[in-house]
Amino acid sequence: MNFHIVTLFPEAFSSYLATSILKRALERGQIKIYFYNPRDFTDDPHRRVDRRPYGGGPGMVLQAEAILRAVRRAVGKKRDVKILILSPRGKQFDNAGARILARRYRHIILIAGHYEGIDARVKKALRAEEISIGPYVLTGGELPAMAIIDAVSRQIPGVLGKGESLEEERIASREVYTRPESFRIGKKTYRVPKILLSGDHKKIDAWKNAH
Ligand code: SAM
Repeated sequence: MNFHIVTLFPEAFSSYLATSILKRALERGQIKIYFYNPRDFTDDPHRRVDRRPYGGGPGMVLQAEAILRAVRRAVGKKRDVKILILSPRGKQFDNAGARILARRYRHIILIAGHYEGIDARVKKALRAEEISIGPYVLTGGELPAMAIIDAVSRQIPGVLGKGESLEEERIASREVYTRPESFRIGKKTYRVPKILLSGDHKKIDAWKNAH
C-alpha cells in the first residue's frame, strides 16, 4: 500500500511513523509513504499557498492550484488510486472504511488542509470524497491523515503479527487486565476479575464475550 500525503507539514508525521507497528511496516516495505508539499508546486516566489477567502471571513484558505499540481504528481500514471480530502465535514471514517481502502486500492492520496480549509475547487476538480475522523475540528489534516494511515495499515495482511491480529478481532469492546492481580490507590483496592485467574477457559471466554 502506498500513501501519498499532500501536506504543508510533512515533518509532523515523522515521530509517529518511526514508532511501533507502522515503523515495522515501513521497514518491511508493506507500506510506503510519500509526501508532497504544496509549497513545492506553486509559482509564488515566496512559496506562499494561502490567501484570504473571497466574500470575506476569518483566516486563510489554501489555494487550489498548488494542491492540484501536487495531486497530479502523486497520481502520475498510477492505477487503483483513491483520493481523499480530509475535512471535519466529510464522511465519518471507520474501521469498515479502513478495510475497504486496504482491499480495493494500492495508492491512497490524502489531502490535508490547514487554516480555514482548502479552496472548494480542489474537491470539484478531483471529484474527490471528503473524509472526517470525527465530529470535532482539528488544526490541520495531518493528525487525521496519520489516523487513516494507521487504521488502514492494520488491515493490510501481514502488517500485524499473528497475536496482534487476533487481538484486533477479539478486543474491540473488551476489558483487559495485566499484572499485578491487585493494587491499592488511597483506600481503594483494584482487583482483576476472579474469573480471569480461574484457568477455566470456557468461563473466561464467556466472560470476555460479555465484557
Ligand atoms: N472551518 C474549516 C472547515 O470546516 O473545513 C476548518 C478547517 S480546519 C481548522 C483545517 C483542516 O484540518 C481542514 O481543512 C481539514 O483538512 C483538517 N481537519 C480538521 N478537523 C478534521 C477532522 N475532524 N477530520 C478530518 N480532517 C480534519
